[in-house]
Amino acid sequence: KSFKDLSVGPDIRRALRMLGYESPMEVQEKVIPFIMEDKDLIVKSQTGSGKTAAFGIPICEKVEIEENKPQALILTPTRELALQIKEDIGHIGKFKKVRAAALYGRHPVHLQERELKQRVHVVVGTPGRTKDHIDRGNLVLDGIKYLVIDEADEMLSMGFIDQVESIINMLPQKRCTLLFSATIPDRIEEICSKYLRDSARIEI
Ligand code: AMP
Repeated sequence: KSFKDLSVGPDIRRALRMLGYESPMEVQEKVIPFIMEDKDLIVKSQTGSGKTAAFGIPICEKVEIEENKPQALILTPTRELALQIKEDIGHIGKFKKVRAAALYGRHPVHLQERELKQRVHVVVGTPGRTKDHIDRGNLVLDGIKYLVIDEADEMLSMGFIDQVESIINMLPQKRCTLLFSATIPDRIEEICSKYLRDSARIEI
């Protein structure tokens, strides 16, 4: 299969060619069709499998560029991952002009606040700092249509899962929720059954 077969449009395909992504990796081939149809999804996969683009490509495809509020929120455990995902989204969405912001600790809040005041379509953040920006009123959630919980098991072992849960509770009910995890411990299973609807499961 090609990215075109997966209904990826010309702007994104052009960006993927520039990145050297000639054909979809297994996780992308399996995941992209579900996200294109706004279905909730649990994906058991490791880092290095191509999972960032598996959610990044369809989210960039689905984002409405004229809309003035963030439409996708990606929660991830570390600052490094937040920056990496922001960069990947920026590359994938380059020709469509998708804008992403990263929120993470040990970095001045006001600089991130300023970034959020520009028009951003996708927000990538670690749970603590993301919650902080929500509480300060810097991050508007009512336009969020996609939630990605990335490396859910890592967020659990790092003690972030309660913050993740409180963020989920502030999001619009009508949304698409995607959870990625290498393992699915009980607490993550609980999050899935509480917050995902009619979800499919994909294992790579
Ligand atoms: P990830 O699992 O998201 O960390 O991705 C692992 C690596 O695979 C990253 O370096 C990506 O740039 C690369 N990658 C992702 N999708 C593709 C693709 N379709 N073709 C070639 N490389 C890819």
